[in-house]
Amino acid sequence: MTTELYPRERPGLVRDAAARAGLGAVLLTPGPDLRYVTGYDAKELERLTCLVVPAEGEAFLVVPRLELPAAQESPAGSLGLELVPWDETDDPYELVARRLPRGVRTVGVGDRMWAVMALRFRAAMPDAGQVAAGGVLRGLRMRKSAAEVAALREAGAAIDRVHRRVPDLIKAGRTEREVARDVAEAILAEGHTRVDFVIVGSGPNGASPHAEPSDRVIRPGEPVVVDIGGTMPSGYCSDSTRNYCVGEPPAEYREYYAVLEEAQRASSAAVRPGVTPEAVDAAARDLIAAAGHGEHFFHRTGHGIGLESHEDPYIVAGNREPLEPGMAFSIEPGIYPGPHGARIEDIVVCTEDGHESVNHTGRGLVIVG
Ligand code: ZN
Ligand code: ZN
Ligand code: ZN
Repeated sequence: MTTELYPRERPGLVRDAAARAGLGAVLLTPGPDLRYVTGYDAKELERLTCLVVPAEGEAFLVVPRLELPAAQESPAGSLGLELVPWDETDDPYELVARRLPRGVRTVGVGDRMWAVMALRFRAAMPDAGQVAAGGVLRGLRMRKSAAEVAALREAGAAIDRVHRRVPDLIKAGRTEREVARDVAEAILAEGHTRVDFVIVGSGPNGASPHAEPSDRVIRPGEPVVVDIGGTMPSGYCSDSTRNYCVGEPPAEYREYYAVLEEAQRASSAAVRPGVTPEAVDAAARDLIAAAGHGEHFFHRTGHGIGLESHEDPYIVAGNREPLEPGMAFSIEPGIYPGPHGARIEDIVVCTEDGHESVNHTGRGLVIVG
């Protein structure tokens, strides 16, 4: 699985993209970009680990001597990449600077590189300007391979299994925090290695899209927004939102929930190659606005997902970069009029002629208790 998910040609693709962007080299410290290029899920430490991809010449991975075994055992160990260990008394920044070809004018530093590391690189290479490397990586990471889409499907199936357990966890009298704790446990039990977020927004808290689980007690007749996600052993993320209610919800909730279901469906149906993210956003937004809830839908329709739970492409007005097969993102319109709210979220992949959802649990309101 790993070789397919993290293929050998990635460092070469980054090198080509760096050259096209006019960068002398790209420097990637631990994080999603490094994992994407090498498969190495490196620890974020104060000691420097850095993949160096020169625009001309071979890429190499600088690692603290004590991390060498971990790097060798990771998929990075079988990429044919030179591993360059450094000892405690070495200056790894100088080491990188010395090994780079002469006359490098600009280096791309990973978007998530710690500022202290970027500054050390600046001091070691005073003649080289620095730019964010994200622009070089995004074109690659945005277009998912078949193996990456399969990893997202696996993540989708895992979070679907968690949502199927949620009706047993939500009961009148329990607090959001109690439910969230059980949901987090289920996220791990269903195959994730990490819980990324658990939103359990009951009643008025459901009208706040990023509400933190609180000690609020869930009461009968209250809708509950459950938005959950985690990271799989593959490194790929899940993210899905469903809505639950203890008994029958208020009548006005039923009304706007029907609009929301229609908007989520329309937005997903708009996905196909050549369509802009802006148009996909509008497909949901126009329906919601026509029903009089325009001001109650105040966030973008979606975000890309992969090795990060929020990445390019963003499904938002102003993004006119046409969709292509392999792009993966959430479709998650919401309506938040208060004193309750709702959001329906699937992860979809743009296919040759439309979309594929990786989430398959019912999108309707689930009555519990
Ligand atoms: Zn969000
Ligand atoms: Zn999301
Ligand atoms: Zn979500």
